[in-house]
Amino acid sequence: MRFRKLRLSGFKSFVEPAELLIEPGLTGVVGPNGCGKSNLLEAIRWVMGEGSPKSLRGGGMEDVIFAGTATRASRSFAEVSLLVDDGAGGAETEVVRRIERGAGSAYRLNGRDVRQRDVALLFADAATGAHSPALVSQGRIAAVIAAKPVERRQMLEEAAGIAGLHVRRREAEQRLRGAEANLTRLDELLSDME
Ligand code: ATP
Repeated sequence: MRFRKLRLSGFKSFVEPAELLIEPGLTGVVGPNGCGKSNLLEAIRWVMGEGSPKSLRGGGMEDVIFAGTATRASRSFAEVSLLVDDGAGGAETEVVRRIERGAGSAYRLNGRDVRQRDVALLFADAATGAHSPALVSQGRIAAVIAAKPVERRQMLEEAAGIAGLHVRRREAEQRLRGAEANLTRLDELLSDME
């Protein structure tokens, strides 16, 4: 999977709609302090389904919406769109996440309403995602060095593209437990009838 284009509107300091083309190869973001470099990286993590406001330097998820300045009114929504392709320049997918004050987040894949889980699995299967080691933010290198073995294992699993399998296994286990409970209930009913 390759990231091609990022569009932001009302996200943190990016109040006006902004579009950035992401060229092949390693991408670095440079600029003066406070110009919004980290906000850009957070926008990518956010559209990929990040669920923790803390890891986006906010107290609540609505903190990603432009909060206004002395001269500009705040916004009522934030929207980020990420265009990806299959890595060979083919099959394009547009992922959109939008949050409105008081209404929470909504996701779309190529214009179709989907759940957060669908978006997170799309990226997890492609060995990337909101916690992917491919996104290197400030302090991340130090965090990798200081990571506990279990955290390092999670990073390796993300890189190997098997993180999505854990989600599916947990869901399958839940379904199995549900089926077992149904079977037990059925046994009870049958023995009542005998
Ligand atoms: P540094 O190099 O100092 O780390 P940076 O270029 O990474 O800075 P960011 O941390 O991405 O900059 O951007 C910080 C700016 O974004 C601050 O000016 C902050 O006020 C602004 N900002 C963050 N969230 C919002 C929001 N919800 N509404 C408006 N502005 C915001």
